[in-house]
Amino acid sequence: MYNDIAVAIAHVLRASEAKILYIDYDAHHGDGVQRAFYDDPRVMTVSLHETGRYLFPGTGEVLELGRGQGRGYSVNVPLEAFTEDDSYIEVIHSLLQPLVTSFAPDLIISLHGCDTHAWDPLTHLKLTLRGIQAQSKMAHQLAHTYCQGRWVAIGGGGYDLYRVVPRAWSMLWAEMSEQELPAELPAEWIARWRPEWQAVQEQEEAAQQVMGKLAARSEFPTTFQDRPADFPEQPRRWSISRANEHTVALVRQLVVPSAVRHAFPSPQRRSPLTGLFDLLHLRGSATPSRSKILETEKGQLLLRDFCPPSLVERLTADSGLRAFARLPEREKQLLVGIARSPDCALALAHTPTGEIIGQVTIAPGDVWWEGIDNIYEVAIEVSSNWRGQKVAQNLLAFALELDALEDMILFAIGLSWHWDVDGLGISVYRYRELIAHLFEVQGFVEYQTTEPNVSMEPANILLARVGSRVDQRVASQFYRRVLSSPTLSVL
Ligand SMILES: [Zn+2]
Repeated sequence: MYNDIAVAIAHVLRASEAKILYIDYDAHHGDGVQRAFYDDPRVMTVSLHETGRYLFPGTGEVLELGRGQGRGYSVNVPLEAFTEDDSYIEVIHSLLQPLVTSFAPDLIISLHGCDTHAWDPLTHLKLTLRGIQAQSKMAHQLAHTYCQGRWVAIGGGGYDLYRVVPRAWSMLWAEMSEQELPAELPAEWIARWRPEWQAVQEQEEAAQQVMGKLAARSEFPTTFQDRPADFPEQPRRWSISRANEHTVALVRQLVVPSAVRHAFPSPQRRSPLTGLFDLLHLRGSATPSRSKILETEKGQLLLRDFCPPSLVERLTADSGLRAFARLPEREKQLLVGIARSPDCALALAHTPTGEIIGQVTIAPGDVWWEGIDNIYEVAIEVSSNWRGQKVAQNLLAFALELDALEDMILFAIGLSWHWDVDGLGISVYRYRELIAHLFEVQGFVEYQTTEPNVSMEPANILLARVGSRVDQRVASQFYRRVLSSPTLSVL
């Protein structure tokens, strides 16, 4: 009632230097916590909720991204009414892990409102306890992978007091305390609460009869998991999950840095590849990966492309390599993930002693670019310890010099808050100039675009290079996409 979560977060902020990730699973938008930390980059709030089109409080749009220093740290996923388990689980899988990777929190606080359940009388989401269990499993796993297990879980909304709330929160407690749940609910518990629930049901039915409508009679549950037979499929389930996919694609485009997106591709985006990229990879494996020596004032570097995961595993990450995953060791794990993906190409710059000091990734464009053939995103990073050595120019030129890339559209999005701009000690506008220059030398052109990230923030930039052999039809599809609003064009 008094926003205990915001008070708890404020306490952690005062008492430590920790960064906090707040995940709000309640069906209503987490507007209070979001507002309390809207301009604070130490707190990332992620709210997954039913769209505010039909539900209180009406807020929680994707474009509520935070303010000032806190921009990019408020994440909102408005889900369609009648969203079911499969779509919901897909949403949390394609979003939470990349978000946590790029934010690198020290503590996770999650709010487990269970009013997302199909039986909840207030909302229109249609989860069963399978979807609700996926929420706590995900929070638990993220806390152990990224925060040494530091996890605070809190109850939240939930208005089916007899059938849903006790089961959902028992499940949460079982997950936290690592206990197996029995399949059946305890018999004495059912005996205690079923009569009370039945009495309430009868009162409600009497009231409904007065108003001339009668809801279908349902049963009191006897198992922890819901029985699928009690939850008929939504007739519109396909279009609902498509709409959710596009919402997540937009969120990923807005708040997940490119290299992290490349390491955690969305499941739908698995190669509709037209063979070209496979061809590149065939070349990569038939001949050993290309390499080149680069002389700098700080010493010799080796540039290599099509780096296999085994090579990346053997190298270490330089201490200045942390723009995407915040910590060099995690940055390296990110690169191993990218190297493993058959759809991505990874070029590295490393020292003779095996320290990675720069990387370029080329990966298929995210769902945002769906429908355009052969479109790939390029991302680059150079260790902050190696700036001013022309590593970025040379590494990018090396990664992009393959002739086969003339069949592709390549794009790069410079996003001022995704990168370590503070670490660079320059303004976001100077950063923009640097990015523009870096890519323009490689034949990229800056495009005016309605892509929300770029149109809303003048420091951001969209650069693209349409290869000389790209089909005219594909090129015009690309120009149209760039110039139209993504949400309008995909929905
Ligand atoms: Zn709620």
